[in-house]
Amino acid sequence: MKYRSTRGNINNTLNSTNAIIQGLAPDSGLYVPLKFPKATWELADLAQLNYQEIAKLVFNLFFDDFSEEEINQIVNSAYGKQWDTQDIAPLKERDGNFYLELFHGPTLAFKDIALQALPLLMTKAVQIEQINHKIIILTATSGDTGSASMAGFSNKNGTEVLVFYPEGGVSPVQLKQMLNQPGTNLRAFAIKGNFDDAQTEVKRIFNDQSFNQKLLDENYQFSSANSMNIGRLIPQIVYYLYSYGTLVKNKKIRLGNKVNFTVPTGNFGDILAAYYAKKLGLPINKLICASNENNVLTDFFKTGKYDRQRQFHLTNAPAMDILVSSNLERLLFDLDDNNAQEIKQWMDQLNDQGFYQVNDQVFEKMNNLFAAGFATQSEVKDEIRRVYEDDVYVIDPHTAVGSFVTKKYHEQTGDKTPTIIVSTASPYKFPETVFSALTKKEVSPASPALNQLDSLLNEDLVPAIKKLFDEKNTKETVISINEMQNIILKNLALD
Ligand SMILES: *Cc1c(COP(=O)(O)O)cnc(C)c1O
Repeated sequence: MKYRSTRGNINNTLNSTNAIIQGLAPDSGLYVPLKFPKATWELADLAQLNYQEIAKLVFNLFFDDFSEEEINQIVNSAYGKQWDTQDIAPLKERDGNFYLELFHGPTLAFKDIALQALPLLMTKAVQIEQINHKIIILTATSGDTGSASMAGFSNKNGTEVLVFYPEGGVSPVQLKQMLNQPGTNLRAFAIKGNFDDAQTEVKRIFNDQSFNQKLLDENYQFSSANSMNIGRLIPQIVYYLYSYGTLVKNKKIRLGNKVNFTVPTGNFGDILAAYYAKKLGLPINKLICASNENNVLTDFFKTGKYDRQRQFHLTNAPAMDILVSSNLERLLFDLDDNNAQEIKQWMDQLNDQGFYQVNDQVFEKMNNLFAAGFATQSEVKDEIRRVYEDDVYVIDPHTAVGSFVTKKYHEQTGDKTPTIIVSTASPYKFPETVFSALTKKEVSPASPALNQLDSLLNEDLVPAIKKLFDEKNTKETVISINEMQNIILKNLALD
């Protein structure tokens, strides 16, 4: 399997190990398979296999520079005892829908699925390619990627992790997780700006040739744990296949029947993995793209014009507070028949003018595959309460965005296809919003929101949640965007 850049020449290819190590292409494009592979399994197999077995099939297909034995080890260790359920991705039927719970890992959000695997893939890839440099993982985060990549890379030999998150733009629990994650190779910084500012500067530093050379001279090389990295995207295909198999196994659908997936969307990585699952033959009717008040994607799917020139909102679903969804580029590349030149033109226009308009063919394909909608912050809270009152099931604000958009979609279209809502985070990760949604009261300042939600729900808590009660350090290091490059040097003791 070869990979190429969405903005590059078709003759410039590299293998999966190098694509994982590099993270982002030097031309600022994203790595995609040169030729999209065919599934090595039958649909019926999905109902017979467990999570790890499906993961091995998917990893072997896309990462064929690793031996089968290496993939076995990576999968077994990524999806082992650090999860609070052997299922990894349990499916719950509630209130007429299916909720695919992806938050049973160490940091309580779906990012763990990929970020428990990526560090193992990357350190193995470095070995296979006999690279002697240390790898610097530069990460821009709206909260969950930061904590999940720190948990995944903690004390992994030959790696240094630097995380940049928007000051005031992450939840108190996310902040605690980032500032308390043990590991001598981990640092997190608050930046004065929003997620898009952090992501733009990370991409710029990534492609700053002279800075890269300077680091190379000191035996360092950059990589990324953002969903721009193909090594993060591919592991996310697994749960789409697995949840379909679960529905067949439990006789909720017949083999071959179509399903919809609703995906609470920010950087478009999660929903892109669903699209890749469809390309691998999974019978998907619609992919429903759910956004919060930063609804640039809702408008895009309606009009074909991507326009980031709008107000940025800090919302109660902060992991989706994004105006420039990086992974959309991979979808467009595919729908535009791999026309890298046109993709580059659109992305340059987005950068220079703040918008682009796709052509008619791409727009038509988009509309056949996707539906889109958004939820306001008060709709999020109402949805958390509605699902709880109707079915005694507690969902987090991001999942509530998905749940609300699904309800609207069913009402507006009359589509009766069974729908799986991707549940991207534990409600305990966002206790302020969940508590006030359920009680219609604000949390009292007298005690932490987590304790108040715990007393309200009185559930048995898994260890990853219990851990949050006793972590104390919330001392942030705040820097401006233009200090990011120097902070990197300083933390590597190269200044
Ligand atoms: C990251 C994240 C999302 C958005 O996923 P993308 O792959 O960026 O679209 C949604 N919900 C939660 C809880 C997240 O952490």
